[in-house]
Amino acid sequence: MEKIYLDYAATTYVRDEVLEEMLPYFKEGFGNPSSLYESGRRAAGVLDAARKSMAKSLGAASKNEIHFTACGTESDNWALRGIMEANAKKGKHLVTTAAEHHAVLHAAGHLETLGYEVTVLPVDEYGAVSAEQVKNALRADTVLVSVIYANNEVGTVNPIREIGRVVREAGVLFHTDAVQAAGSIPLDVQKDWIDLLSLSAHKFYGPKGVGALYVREGVKIAPLLYGGAQERKRRAGTENVPEIAGMAKALLLAVQEMDEEMRRISLLRDYMMEKVRECLPRAVVNGHGTHRLPNNVNISLKGIESEAALLSLDMAGIECSSGSACTSGSLEPSHVLLAMGKPPEEVRSALRFTLGKTTTKEQIDRVLGQLKELHCRADRLEEC
Ligand SMILES: *Cc1c(COP(=O)(O)O)cnc(C)c1O
Repeated sequence: MEKIYLDYAATTYVRDEVLEEMLPYFKEGFGNPSSLYESGRRAAGVLDAARKSMAKSLGAASKNEIHFTACGTESDNWALRGIMEANAKKGKHLVTTAAEHHAVLHAAGHLETLGYEVTVLPVDEYGAVSAEQVKNALRADTVLVSVIYANNEVGTVNPIREIGRVVREAGVLFHTDAVQAAGSIPLDVQKDWIDLLSLSAHKFYGPKGVGALYVREGVKIAPLLYGGAQERKRRAGTENVPEIAGMAKALLLAVQEMDEEMRRISLLRDYMMEKVRECLPRAVVNGHGTHRLPNNVNISLKGIESEAALLSLDMAGIECSSGSACTSGSLEPSHVLLAMGKPPEEVRSALRFTLGKTTTKEQIDRVLGQLKELHCRADRLEEC
């Protein structure tokens, strides 16, 4: 039986062109970019090319604004902690939203224990915040606003450009967790008024364990890691040269193929959502109808617990998620769906399908068939 992978928001495979890009730097080109001799200089050249390429892919003004990290989680932690620490003279107030990834929420929680003040904005029924809401939360001592670009659970895309604008106008710094957005939907750090942006390679067909933080020129940020002078003394640690080369290649390809891929995947997404609405009376579709990632379908199958559904889908060779990967497997309900005001029954029965490069209409039809079976089983249980 053919396996069906529908959890591309959790992670992607490494595409062939990216793997090929990385391979030379594991053995022949293994030099340390900080070494002054020839092989070191060559490795430094690889980093330079990757930085330039990624700056261009993100619309950044300079390659010096791209900083390599070990993952999206590190980028988020660094943005929040590094900015609040470096700008403590201005104030200790941070604004974020209730539908952030745990990498942002838990970093904000840690800052609270250190005496910082955090305003967590409530989200609407789709998981979004408005520019108006953000503007009203700003104070004289607000240092940073952090709003997720596109939600990893329900796929809702925030009005980032409008938010960025009001935050910039107020003279406050703006960070966005763009881990789900980068490589999936168009974004531009300058046009979107972004000061800091987090991304992670394994969400766009690059390798795991490498990410980046864009920091706009002139923004003061304290290091998270102390040690050597890498990344202009902002992030110590020998750079992951092969994976950085792979990440830059993966982002470039994603940007080049974006229009076509968005069209193809959003058609499949819309087909799946339409069929769900048509054939599954117990189903509720979560997230925004149009301001939504092209590959995300999130539904609640009322009366069927997520875990039972996941197990039964897994037995049928279908891999999906109950929400974020970090909370599936534990019984913790999704903080995003709760923040959206979903009733407990819908929170308990949420399923996230995230489509990708290998997804076909035939696969979607097979999944719909399995969901229908689950549905009938629940109906029969209720009858007796
Ligand atoms: C996956 C993800 C992260 C964490 O990235 P890692 O590289 O896995 O640490 C952060 N934010 C969002 C929105 C994500 O989807």
